[in-house]
Amino acid sequence: MTGRISVVKTDITTLAVDVIVNAANNSLLGGGGVDGAIHRAAGRELVEECATLGGCETGQAKITGGYRLPARHVIHTVGPVWTGGDRGERELLANCYRSCFQIARQRGLKTIAFPAISCGVYRFPVEQAVETAVRETRAELEANDAIEEVIFACFGDDIYQAYLRALKEP
Ligand code: ADP
Repeated sequence: MTGRISVVKTDITTLAVDVIVNAANNSLLGGGGVDGAIHRAAGRELVEECATLGGCETGQAKITGGYRLPARHVIHTVGPVWTGGDRGERELLANCYRSCFQIARQRGLKTIAFPAISCGVYRFPVEQAVETAVRETRAELEANDAIEEVIFACFGDDIYQAYLRALKEP
């Protein structure tokens, strides 16, 4: 099972996978961080498609084309802003991963790359975020043989190391 999970230090916009996940905001109209990088690399058509979607609730996800990205599609999900942990942040983050996998399943997408959702300006504690990502991914891979590879694309060494630690845990 773990054989279908990889952790790589890379810019997610370079990955030629079926789908990359965007850590978007509720408007889906672009922002900073990974969201800005994805929109820049995909080109103007991405924001035009996003503008037709009516935004997205925190914990939910919506799919678009990938346009000029090497990835065929983008799943936009909205992670929670961390405000101390007593506003359902952990469950909302788990819902992001579940929502993304649900769309991947419905669309038959086999290779999927995630950034560390909520670990940037949304300030989610990295260890906890990574533990959630790994737990939800393992649950999905156990239930769904169709997914061939899940890639955790890490921009910083701290997040990369946190994934390696989490994946060592049974
Ligand atoms: P959020 O608002 O959900 O916190 P951010 O984009 O601020 O989203 O950060 C999420 C994570 O994505 C951070 O760990 C950040 O370092 C990382 N990140 C930023 N740009 C990229 C990129 N091009 N590829 C992969 N990860 C990225």
